[in-house]
Amino acid sequence: MKSILLFALLPFTLFAQQKNPVATGCDLLIRNGKIIDGGGNSWYYGDIAVNDGKIAAVGRQLNYTGEKTIDATGLIVAPGFIDVHTHLEGDETKDPNATNFIMDGVTTCITGNCGSSNTDIGKYLHFIDSLKLSINVATLIGHNDVRKSVMGRANRDATPEELQKMEEIVDQAMKDGAVGFSTGLIYVPGTYTKTPEIVALAKEAAKYNGIYATHMRDEGDSVTYAIEEALTIGREAKIPVEISHFKLSGQHNWGRSKETVPMIEAARKEGIEVTIDQYPYTASSTSISTLIPDEILADGQDSIRARLQNPATRKYVIKYMLGRLKKRRLKHYDYTVVSYYSPDTTYNGKSIEQINLMKGRKHKKKFEAQTIIDLMMTGGAGAVFHGMGDEDLKRIMKYPFNMFASDASIRVFGSGMPHPRGYGTNARVLAKYVRDEKLLSLQQAIYKLAKLPAVNLKLEKRGELKVGYYADVIIFDPAKVKDQASYDKPHQYSLGMIHVFVNGIQVLKNNVHTGATPGRFVKKVKM
Ligand SMILES: [Zn+2]
Repeated sequence: MKSILLFALLPFTLFAQQKNPVATGCDLLIRNGKIIDGGGNSWYYGDIAVNDGKIAAVGRQLNYTGEKTIDATGLIVAPGFIDVHTHLEGDETKDPNATNFIMDGVTTCITGNCGSSNTDIGKYLHFIDSLKLSINVATLIGHNDVRKSVMGRANRDATPEELQKMEEIVDQAMKDGAVGFSTGLIYVPGTYTKTPEIVALAKEAAKYNGIYATHMRDEGDSVTYAIEEALTIGREAKIPVEISHFKLSGQHNWGRSKETVPMIEAARKEGIEVTIDQYPYTASSTSISTLIPDEILADGQDSIRARLQNPATRKYVIKYMLGRLKKRRLKHYDYTVVSYYSPDTTYNGKSIEQINLMKGRKHKKKFEAQTIIDLMMTGGAGAVFHGMGDEDLKRIMKYPFNMFASDASIRVFGSGMPHPRGYGTNARVLAKYVRDEKLLSLQQAIYKLAKLPAVNLKLEKRGELKVGYYADVIIFDPAKVKDQASYDKPHQYSLGMIHVFVNGIQVLKNNVHTGATPGRFVKKVKM
């Protein structure tokens, strides 16, 4: 009986084998996910096969068997997110697992922003590759550190010899694998630098098809002049421009994205390759030194202290600060919340208004300005500034050439009161702005989080789910993904990220970090 049945089935079996040849083996097979490939396309049900850290196949019902198989039924499978604006310098060894990024779907960070980077990129490459992180890292070469290494914090123009030295550093950095050149023109010594010096250095990056990423000279009252300067640099150095953390600061400037976003569009029409990036929050975060006049900040901490000890200078600084506060139509420094002050951590999470009262001073803005000077005299502090409007944030977010960025570093869980963006940026985009407010479609958001950054920074074979690309793959629950980090409780990981693979290795498994550190230094594609 058995043999008869076998005999009867034989032709069918043969036929089936011809149509379905033996399944190909692979290291990892992700089955039945809703695949969003990163290119802006909507999802389809499909599988991904990974071999040797790269995507071997992607499509419907792949005939593969995996050494390891993941069932992604009901989940989105997408390319790992590329965070275009981070500041990892100095924090790389604090948590090589980079858990805050991994839990938020980030597989590659671009560091070296706002003019602040390592200056020896060859050395940095070896450091990253020998340290081993869970995330990939690419870097820009930062103007402030290049300038400091040649002429310190001097408040003057560079001599021709100094400019040449700076050009050589940028040239070497690009040869060593930097993705571009960054400036931070509100920080010392960027603030002392005129446009021609930046054009000259941007030209060095342009020779290697790098980009120019800028924290502009102003994001408030003079924002349109600052955008013009960034575009001038792009035009004259013939280099793509990325304007970092695009925003409108100060309540009296709210609504002006109606002017600034069209400036970007007009520049693109003119032929300048310009993009912008944004963190999806209405508070910013930086040093409280940005509240003090630039000229006070030259030449380092001892000089800052000496200047601020002079009664006449103090008077001038307080007048300057109160003038700016008035312009913002504010009566107190309640919008400035200290995130990290090392001499007294009880200040962390308190506003300047509150700290001033803690010091037993009168509830007056004049004394609050004095409190800021006191903090500056003792080394300065990091702070979160609540100063942006929701309407601008949304208008910027909808702009097709806007990307997302945390503007953060590797977070040490529980340390200080940092901006929540270091934990929740991408989950916030997916939860608040895609799922709840429907400002963007899921495929648009993923395009802005993966392919657009990869194309913009010319990262080789990343940012899309394509055959031959590195297997930076994330799997998340579109119904559950959500940021948890808040201004009051910033140390909270995002929810909904289920599995994360970096270069084909699993870094997050069922929402738990595996401890794997397969990240590597990522160079720009050679052109
Ligand atoms: Zn910045």
